Amino acid sequence: MAAFIDRVTVHVAAGRGANGVSSVHREKFKPLGGPDGGDGGDGGDVVLEVDGSVHTLLDFHHHPHQRAGNGKQAAGNYRNGGRGEELVLRVPSGTVVSVDGEQIADLVGIGARLVLARGGKGGLGNAALANARRKAPGFALLGEPGESVDAVLELKSIADVGLVGYPSAGKSSLVAAMSAARPKIADYPFTTLVPQLGVIRSGDTTYTMADVPGLIPGASVGKGLGLEFLRHVERCAVLVHVIDMATMEPGRDPESDIEALEHELREYGGDELDLVGRLRIAVLNKIDVPDGRELVDLVRATLEARGLQVFAISAATGEGLPELGFALARAVEEHRATLPAVPAAPITIVPKAVDDGGFRVEADPRTDGWVVLGVRPERWVRQTEFTNDEAVGFLADRLNRLGVEEALAKAGAVPGDAITIGDVTFDWEPTLPAGTLTIEETAGLGGRGTDTRLESDSRMRANERLAAKKARRVPYELTPLDDDVPDDLPVDDR
Ligand code: GDP
Ligand code: MG
Repeated sequence: MAAFIDRVTVHVAAGRGANGVSSVHREKFKPLGGPDGGDGGDGGDVVLEVDGSVHTLLDFHHHPHQRAGNGKQAAGNYRNGGRGEELVLRVPSGTVVSVDGEQIADLVGIGARLVLARGGKGGLGNAALANARRKAPGFALLGEPGESVDAVLELKSIADVGLVGYPSAGKSSLVAAMSAARPKIADYPFTTLVPQLGVIRSGDTTYTMADVPGLIPGASVGKGLGLEFLRHVERCAVLVHVIDMATMEPGRDPESDIEALEHELREYGGDELDLVGRLRIAVLNKIDVPDGRELVDLVRATLEARGLQVFAISAATGEGLPELGFALARAVEEHRATLPAVPAAPITIVPKAVDDGGFRVEADPRTDGWVVLGVRPERWVRQTEFTNDEAVGFLADRLNRLGVEEALAKAGAVPGDAITIGDVTFDWEPTLPAGTLTIEETAGLGGRGTDTRLESDSRMRANERLAAKKARRVPYELTPLDDDVPDDLPVDDR
């Protein structure tokens, strides 16, 4: 039948990573037992997976917005939060996935998977952030938001059910009356006659239906547009003959109509295609017209004698449509059961990580300052609780270790320049190499871990709070940069 495209845009969001917890271990007689805050759970991914029992994208027409589970909360006493629930969206084999106009996957074969949106990382708790020198971190890392993706799913498909019949029998009306969604017709080579296409759901079965316009006597020898349409009929699982009960032209009756059409199908398809063998159901349409209903009784037996299942319906009033829907679903299921099994080894596609481990510094015309671009610096900023001095100091150390300050200086940044990382803008105050300073010296610097470099609007309030806190703030211990983050902690990669 007509090749068409079932196309839908889905908006998916992976789960958010939960925040790490900052907590101090409590035991009887041991009031300050060390940091014991657990790690926040990672957010769940959104995954597309090919499922053999899914044949259309109908569900996504109804539910285009989908979201995976957020990471679970952590707690004190070293309790880590669990991973957020993965959301698996089941798609038919042959689903082509595009993002931003670029095709990223063609999912073929049962079990093929695509991670469409990755969940956000959970934040480390203060237990994981402690090391020999930072014995009691009073902060934890924030969880990251999950990815949000708008993707176009497309399925090029062939109708499961093809409707044949004389013009005006009601084929197009029937598709319209039964369908739950109308896919787009793709590159159909006809301008004058356009088939109606629809997606139908009967019970647990979802299938597609299209009418076959122009199948008239002589079509098999090229009369009208018949040949073009017949080419598409080849791939339908089930053919249905729609017969008009309301207006029988003189010289025509249901049986001779069927014979004429079977003749065309046989002429075209020959023995091997056995198109006639697929013509199993006759639909007597327009029984809402009184004469039509009477005619049904006259022709039913004749048609059944030819081995056809007969359904009397009205596309106009909907009478008889549920029964027809179920019979078609059964026929389609029988056909699907005969299809060859799909290749065993399922593939999983994970979009390649964009992290190249590096970063770069560029002049930023928006702020007349500089922007630091890189997966890790941007992630670290997202993970930072800016109302917490220690957390900000930790961020400064991480950036420094990566060489961000050096790179900024090399690029020509001077103290006071606006530095943007992700959606946060700082006033740059270069940190002197830590570890060379005494606590007394750092008090005069106002540098690491304090506040003044935050500029973005959303951070202004945080700054005010910090300023208020400053008076009673005890400067935290500066740790040498080199062994600040021990190698056995995955901090740099998170
Ligand atoms: P097609 O050429 O086979 O696609 O036929 P259409 O679906 O275009 O229908 C032809 C005409 O029959 C249209 O005027 C429809 O409104 C009408 N028609 C279709 N189904 C019914 C029905 O069940 N009852 C009545 N009374 N008219 C119908
Ligand atoms: Mg039509």
